[in-house]
Amino acid sequence: MNLLVLGPQGAGKGTQAKRISDEYAIPHVSTGDMFRAEREAGTGFGVRVGEIMDRGELVPDALTIEMIEARLGRDDARDGFVLDGFPRNLAQAEALDAMLGAIGRSLDAILFFDVLDAVGTERAIKRAETEARSDDTPDVIARRLEVYHSQTEPVVEYYRATGKLVPLHAERSIDDVWSEIAAALQQVGAAA
Ligand code: AMP
Repeated sequence: MNLLVLGPQGAGKGTQAKRISDEYAIPHVSTGDMFRAEREAGTGFGVRVGEIMDRGELVPDALTIEMIEARLGRDDARDGFVLDGFPRNLAQAEALDAMLGAIGRSLDAILFFDVLDAVGTERAIKRAETEARSDDTPDVIARRLEVYHSQTEPVVEYYRATGKLVPLHAERSIDDVWSEIAAALQQVGAAA
């Protein structure tokens, strides 16, 4: 299954994507995690990316798209993947379609985690207390939300038009959201 989780920060995408990855034995491909790993490795690329992340801005499309193309081409993604944090804008969404189309694949479902800004922001602030991410300061959280509204929300509409968008009630508990996801994926699996 080729899946994508979409939604603002604090919507619970990462938590559910990890569970999908475990239950369906497909890799969890998170661009945020990949960029953080680069940053920790301290490469020139990692340092540049870290500066962009700390401002809450998007890493340039060309770099991001190239990284995802290489990752999805790896053996463990042959039978599927759950993409998290990508695409973040329309150019990335179009690039994803093109790279999947070139190998005769397409997305099976786009899980859309819908939460009110206030709820997502509060959850992101809580995460800041436990995970100590350097890009989780109040200013950067606010900037990421602006970027989400201006750049990523059009991606939600792009996928809605495909009929494959699955809207989730993402303000509910982790287990309740999981039940919704499992039911939706059963249908996708049945249709595949
Ligand atoms: P995340 O963990 O998904 O919140 O991502 C953390 C940061 O990594 C973002 O604020 C961006 O700076 C960067 N990032 C993650 N995914 C992307 C993407 N698809 N395109 C550009 N930048 C990204």
